[in-house]
Amino acid sequence: MTPAAERHDSPALHAQGLYIGGEWLPGSGIPVVDPATGEVLADVADAGVADALRAVDAADAAAAGWRATPARQRADILRRWFQLMTDHAEELARLISLENGKALPDARGEVAYAAEFFRWYAEEAVRIQGEFRHAPSGANHILVDHEPIGIALLITPWNFPAAMATRKIGPALAAGCTVILKPASETPLTAYAMARLGAQAGVPPGVVNVLTTTQPAAVSNAMLADPRVRKLSFTGSTQVGRVLLAEAAKTVVSCSMELGGNAPFLVFDDADLEAALDGAIIAKMRNAGEACTAANRFYVQSDIHDAFVAGLTKRMAALRVGSGLAEATQVGPMITANAVSKIDRLVSGAIAQGARVHTGGKPLPGSGYFYPPTVLDNVPLDAEIAHAEIFGPVASVYRFKTEAEAIQLANHTEYGLAAYIYSGDLSRALRVGRAIESGMIAINRGIMSDPAAPFGGVKQSGLGREGGLTGVLEFMEPKYFAVDF
Ligand code: NAD
Repeated sequence: MTPAAERHDSPALHAQGLYIGGEWLPGSGIPVVDPATGEVLADVADAGVADALRAVDAADAAAAGWRATPARQRADILRRWFQLMTDHAEELARLISLENGKALPDARGEVAYAAEFFRWYAEEAVRIQGEFRHAPSGANHILVDHEPIGIALLITPWNFPAAMATRKIGPALAAGCTVILKPASETPLTAYAMARLGAQAGVPPGVVNVLTTTQPAAVSNAMLADPRVRKLSFTGSTQVGRVLLAEAAKTVVSCSMELGGNAPFLVFDDADLEAALDGAIIAKMRNAGEACTAANRFYVQSDIHDAFVAGLTKRMAALRVGSGLAEATQVGPMITANAVSKIDRLVSGAIAQGARVHTGGKPLPGSGYFYPPTVLDNVPLDAEIAHAEIFGPVASVYRFKTEAEAIQLANHTEYGLAAYIYSGDLSRALRVGRAIESGMIAINRGIMSDPAAPFGGVKQSGLGREGGLTGVLEFMEPKYFAVDF
């Protein structure tokens, strides 16, 4: 164990290895860094192509048994996993905070959200429906069954190390699929800790395999080329999503893609200003802005614009920045030094083009990867920050006059994941929501994520939905029988 890790008591920092076929295969080669200090916490195994194919073998060996396991039994295992995550919630939250940096309240929120996917899919596992109909010709019957699609490769990002994994594992296991999870190498400890809890919950060996690697392309390409792998469920950047879609095309693997976002946050002048400010802080600052649903562009109607900027500045400047594990912290560090440099580049570029800084605006000195809550207005529409996913605690505010202008600005992006609308007029909010090209719209709320609702984007924010009533179908194929009797 490293000296930094000795200061933390989590058993998840010990015994790092690949989790394949229910066994821990020792290894090393991936340092895990505490973003609050830059210190190395642990060293986890670095899988190569041979390990990846071993994981496919393990998932294949377990596939028939898992598929044949009664839905009630699969549901019971998921439910026990939910309970174990809930029982170990504080330990998991501290681990997430340690390796990802997010403030403990955010980490606790993530654990609750993540565990809920297991409870929700425990409930859904026993409710998967088919169809029985008469053919319109009257000649026969149409019977449709849903079958598990096959072995699923799950690739997840670092920003929600628990929730992005459970949002895939839950429906996959409910559907009857076996999986290989490849978490981001910045935050592998949470994934391995959850695999341990899964084994305790009764997940049979090989049903869930976890591997970390420094060669994600080679490892995932090898798995996608294996004809036994029939599903890719990816959450991450649009850039990597495009590469993986091209790779999956070679073997025509079914893809679900949860990609980048560029959420607009619209405030009309009939909105409740205080409620809009509360919502803005949640939509912008949950996870210190490192969320795909994070409000990325604030469009505020002229009459309310200055009061909104003043209120937002006051709230942002009052947020306490620090190590995620310190109880008082509301804004933790960014994930890496590179993340801070990217935010700095976007903000400096906007300032050089005439943006006004109301608070923040420069990386914080010292060790760790800290960027302060920042508010900008007067940002030119051609600044890079007006189009790029910021992924940090920076709110850039723009002014609009008419509803049509707000819609046009909101849609001026290749992304279409989430959008927020604040208005006192519900019919206007729904009308605008319909016109916005986005998979999810929050009206007079700063958050929309809910395991019981379909999460996902349109345009280049993704393909398919996770959660809700249809999430399990991403891991199933319909099989149609034409029946004459
Ligand atoms: P990323 O795309 O860099 O990495 C995501 C995962 O893909 C990681 O596990 C990484 O190791 C792996 N990866 C990278 N290159 C690969 C390759 N060539 N082949 C196979 N795997 C590869 O994204 P990130 O920086 O970890 O996460 C941030 C991004 O994720 C943001 O764009 C954010 O919007 C997006 N995100 C989207 C959602 C959503 O639900 N839509 C949720 C969370 C994050």
